[in-house]
Amino acid sequence: MNAAISNPLGVHALVWAGDWSPESARYAIEQTAAAGFDLIEIPLLDPSTVDPDLTRKLLDRHGLSAGTSLGLSADTDVSSTDPEVVARGRRVLADALAVTRDIGCGYFGGVIFSALRKYGAPPDERGRANAVETIAGLAEQARASGITIGLEIVNRYETNILNTTEEALAFRSEVGADNVVLHLDTYHMNIEEPGFAEPVRQAGEHLGYVHIGESHRGYLGRGTIDFPEFFAALVAAGYTGPITFESFSSAVVHPSLSNDLAVWRNLWSDGADLARHARRFITDGLIAARG
Ligand code: MN
Repeated sequence: MNAAISNPLGVHALVWAGDWSPESARYAIEQTAAAGFDLIEIPLLDPSTVDPDLTRKLLDRHGLSAGTSLGLSADTDVSSTDPEVVARGRRVLADALAVTRDIGCGYFGGVIFSALRKYGAPPDERGRANAVETIAGLAEQARASGITIGLEIVNRYETNILNTTEEALAFRSEVGADNVVLHLDTYHMNIEEPGFAEPVRQAGEHLGYVHIGESHRGYLGRGTIDFPEFFAALVAAGYTGPITFESFSSAVVHPSLSNDLAVWRNLWSDGADLARHARRFITDGLIAARG
């Protein structure tokens, strides 16, 4: 960790690899360490494909920590009104939580309160209540392993449950568990929030995880996100949690996630160059904000 910065800096695994085979895990973890990051975020869309023991050994060898994440599918949507769909979603979340624990991660989050997809209607009251109950149960399970649960606030085309910080704060208080945190992502904030400072202030002590993404999800600084405003807000809030770079290109494809995120074009080919650039950009931005 850079001595001038109090946050662990992370990178999402999709910068390196579209799956978590042993070869991909080895490559992604080696590259994350080589680019100077402290943490890698590992997608767990299919928890059964992840070898937790190997992953933990690789992380230890390279002195990294990890977080895990996923977005549910229409078939495992815990905000559904169909009890069977909700039950399937809860099983996926429980499996992912077990893998998170076995890897030795302290954080599991993402779009875990609904499917990651465009909805054709606002949330149903019963469906939303199912989502609240699901996260309350998950948080209870996670507590036993010392795991924090993150609610990633995403744009309207990727969920109809949590698009804004205000909605996430209300949802969190209905869940009523202190190991549930809010996860802000600049890419989504750019679409839904009034700016980059107000949501950080609103989330306050409940902000527990951050994604740094550009407006087009490519190289930082080459889009329209007001990063100086965001970094200044994080510093002003005294936020010391993880800050993870997230970027997607058709150069690295995950069988389901890339399609769910509408990753149609090539924004970069050299993940190592992209990641080194991002780490420098975030570090410089935080140092400038500390001014
Ligand atoms: Mn994100």
